[in-house]
Amino acid sequence: MNDLVIASGTVVTAAGAYRADIGIRGERVAAVGHGLAGLRTMDADGCYVIPGGVDVHVHLQMAVGGFVSSDTFASGSVAAACGGTTTLVDFVEPAVGQSMLQALALRRGEADPQVAVDYGLHMTLPVWQVDHALDELEQVMEQGVYSFKMYQAYGALCLDDARLYAALRAIRRGGGFPILHSENGPLIDVLRAEAQDQGHVAPVWHARTRPAALEAESIARALEIARLAGSPLYIVHVSCGPALEVLACAQREGRPVFGETCPQYLWLTEDHLGGPHGGRFVCSPPLRSAADQQALWIGLSRGVLGVVSTDHCPFTADEKDSPPAFTRIPGGLPSVEARLSLVFQAVRRGTLALSRWVDCCCSTPARLFGLAGKGELAPGYDADLVVFDPQKEMTISRGALHERVDWSPYDGMTLTGWPRAVYSRGELVAESGRFVSRTGRGRFLAAGLAPGATHLAARAQDWSGRGVEGY
Ligand code: MN
Ligand code: MN
Repeated sequence: MNDLVIASGTVVTAAGAYRADIGIRGERVAAVGHGLAGLRTMDADGCYVIPGGVDVHVHLQMAVGGFVSSDTFASGSVAAACGGTTTLVDFVEPAVGQSMLQALALRRGEADPQVAVDYGLHMTLPVWQVDHALDELEQVMEQGVYSFKMYQAYGALCLDDARLYAALRAIRRGGGFPILHSENGPLIDVLRAEAQDQGHVAPVWHARTRPAALEAESIARALEIARLAGSPLYIVHVSCGPALEVLACAQREGRPVFGETCPQYLWLTEDHLGGPHGGRFVCSPPLRSAADQQALWIGLSRGVLGVVSTDHCPFTADEKDSPPAFTRIPGGLPSVEARLSLVFQAVRRGTLALSRWVDCCCSTPARLFGLAGKGELAPGYDADLVVFDPQKEMTISRGALHERVDWSPYDGMTLTGWPRAVYSRGELVAESGRFVSRTGRGRFLAAGLAPGATHLAARAQDWSGRGVEGY
């Protein structure tokens, strides 16, 4: 007998959609079928039943340049749950002189008591770590952190080509998975200094000093370095058409390279930087043109971009509005709560297949990051699932969301489609936009090396030849 049956919904997975009941026993999915019996039943007629969302790029309570992102692990994970995301992956960023294992223990000490849903961590490799501490990688992986974040921009984080190569080799030796923020940081620094010298301080100069061509160039260089290192590579927050061309080209050659984009690049354009609150829209890479946005939607529908994550990194309206120059504005935008619904809007307008929505928001991120038990609805998987009402309207406003920030880039936007009920390991955590569980119940997910996680090589195989002509 099932503890709970989610009855009569349309089950949607990356493979397709069909009417079925889902039977849950304890924390796991026990059965998918018809006429299932359970101690309790939830009627999901008229709704989609999908795996819980997996957002592999969030920055909760993260310190950056004198600011701290305003969502805590508690508030950010509650917001995620209310929007249908039941797995988060955040970051560990070791300070200079600090070991990765020390930094990991501290970060877990912050997150573990607070999280409302399950979560994992990526390890950031700043220059100092690459130069002195790469021998720690295997111990880090044994602690359940298997993805390593690198940067081609931002001062002490910025790896030059030789360091990027060394890091990719070391990650490959250990069987880890490399992820990269790719922009030409050193050249962007020069463009920013030139703009400031000429008195250009308005937010629009944030975009003008980070041209799309320098993102595409940087990604192209990184992919060549990865090829030399015999390494796969995952590019975070791909923001523009030229970068997409570079990725698609490598994928057509069958290389294991993966792209992620974020709601802000799919929904917003650089015009926001020229508006009355332009500073609020500062994030990196910057918001791009409408043509870039169009290219990203096509890349997403055709699978060149495999993942939509948020890069959720909220700062208050005052923190974003006050700085006197664009160079001093903390970068980052919130969207952890609305991600599933924002991407669903493309399903409604017919430009994204229903199964692609689930694939890029749930299944592929779980698979790439070795999050065993997540991202699928099948017997044996964790009972993380969302009963998603495609008719439910949600108007974004400060009062409607649970994100701990006093504005949203999507304020005033009415979305059609929102979770009716959200389950995490069989437990109802959110219902009709309200959080109904407790913080601290979430668990740390040991990624990659966990039993049941798909081996990276198999994953790379799945992706060969995925890049389609014209993306
Ligand atoms: Mn970034
Ligand atoms: Mn980020």
